[in-house]
Amino acid sequence: MSKVKAITTDAPTGGVVFGDFELPDPEHYSAKLKTIYSGICGTDRGMVAGSLSFAYNPEGYRQMVLGHEGLAQVLEIEKNNFGIKPGDYVVPIVRRPGKCVNCRMGRMDNCTDGNKHEAGVTGMHGFMRGYFYDTPENLVKVQDKGMFDVAVLAEPLKNVEKAFEVFDKVSERSIFFNDYGTYEDKKAVVIGTGSEAFLFSFFAKDYGFDTVLTNRHPIPDLKKGMVDMIGAEFYDYTMDMDKIAEGGIDLLIDTSGHPGTIFKFARKLNNNGIAILFGTNGKAPPTGVDGSDIDYIIEKNITLLGSVDGARNHYFMALEHLRKWRYVYGDRMKEFITKKISPSDIDIFTNKPENEIKTVIDWSRV
Ligand code: NAP
Repeated sequence: MSKVKAITTDAPTGGVVFGDFELPDPEHYSAKLKTIYSGICGTDRGMVAGSLSFAYNPEGYRQMVLGHEGLAQVLEIEKNNFGIKPGDYVVPIVRRPGKCVNCRMGRMDNCTDGNKHEAGVTGMHGFMRGYFYDTPENLVKVQDKGMFDVAVLAEPLKNVEKAFEVFDKVSERSIFFNDYGTYEDKKAVVIGTGSEAFLFSFFAKDYGFDTVLTNRHPIPDLKKGMVDMIGAEFYDYTMDMDKIAEGGIDLLIDTSGHPGTIFKFARKLNNNGIAILFGTNGKAPPTGVDGSDIDYIIEKNITLLGSVDGARNHYFMALEHLRKWRYVYGDRMKEFITKKISPSDIDIFTNKPENEIKTVIDWSRV
C-alpha cells in the first residue's frame, strides 16, 4: 500500500476531504503518471453536494478519489505503447468498458447495460491525486506541447463533440440547413453559462449558428468578454425572453438540468427543432408539463435527446478543436481557465466563484 495526496468524496452521500489516501500498489502497470491539472466541473460539485444518485464508490472502498477532468505527464511507460513516451502530456479517458457490445467496440459512452465505470464518478477512483497508474489505451497524447495550458479542457469538450455527433445524425431526418446549405441564420440557444455551456457555444458558432447563451441572472464582465470574443450573444431570460425567442429556436442545448427552464424554452423550438439535454441535477424541483406541451413537441416534430460522455475519438477531436481555438483566439483562450488553485483549497467544491468558467487544481501546488 502507498499513500498519495488525494481529494475524496463518499458517493453518493457527498462531502469532500483532502489528505493522504491509501491505495494498493499495482503488481504490474503499463504507465505511471503525475497529475498536472484537474478540472472541476458541475458533476464534481453535484457529487460533493450528494445530489447525483447515480454516483458510487469503488467496490470495497468507503471513499472515492474525485476527478474526471485531467492533464497528466507520463513518468514511466512500457515501450511501444501508442507512441507515448516518458515526459509526454496525456489526457486520461474517463469511462472504462463493461462487457456490452458497445463497450467492447470502444463506445463506452453508448454503454448498453450500464456496467461501465467512470473515473471519479461511478465505481472507479478518479484523477484528483498526486499520481496514478493507467494503461495506454486509456491515455490520449497531447501532440502539440503549445496546448499545455488548455489541454485540460479536452475532457469536458469531448462531451460536446459527442453531443454534436448525435445532433448531426438526428438533424438528418429533415433538411435542417438554410436555403444555402449552411446553419447561418439558424438559432442555437444554450441554457447556462458554465464551462460546458461555453464549450457548446464555441462549437455552435463554429457550425455557423446564431448563438445565444442565457441564464436567470446577468453574467460578470469576464464572461461577457468571452461571449463577445466568439461573436455570440447573452441574455438574462428573466428580462429578455422575447429577444431570445425572436424567430424561434432551432437548436436548444441545456446545461442546467433544470426541468422548469428546459420546458420554458422547449415551447419556443421551431418545426424540426432539436433539444440536447446535457445538464444533470437530480435535486432540481419538479415542473408541470401538460398535454399542450406534449402536443407542441409532437406537432412541431421536435426531438428531445439526452447525450452523455464521449469516446476516445472525441478526445482526439476535442484536442484538435482546442488547437484551432488556441490559434484563432490566441492567449485569450487562457481566460477560459478563470482560476488555478492548490489541491487543499477544497472550499471550491461548495463555493463556486461568481466569474468561474473553469477552475483548475494545479498539483504542483500540493
Ligand atoms: P456548471 O458550471 O455548474 O454549469 C451549469 C450552468 O447552469 C451554470 O451556469 C448555472 O448557472 C446554470 N443554471 C443552473 N440553473 C439554471 C436555470 N434554472 N436557468 C438557467 N441556467 C441555470 O457545470 P458544467 O461543468 O458547465 O456542467 C454543466 C452540467 O452538465 C452539469 O449539470 C454537469 O453535471 C453536466 N455534465 C453532463 C455531462 C454529460 O455527458 N451529459 C458531462 C459533464 C457534465 P449559475 O451557477 O451561474 O447560476
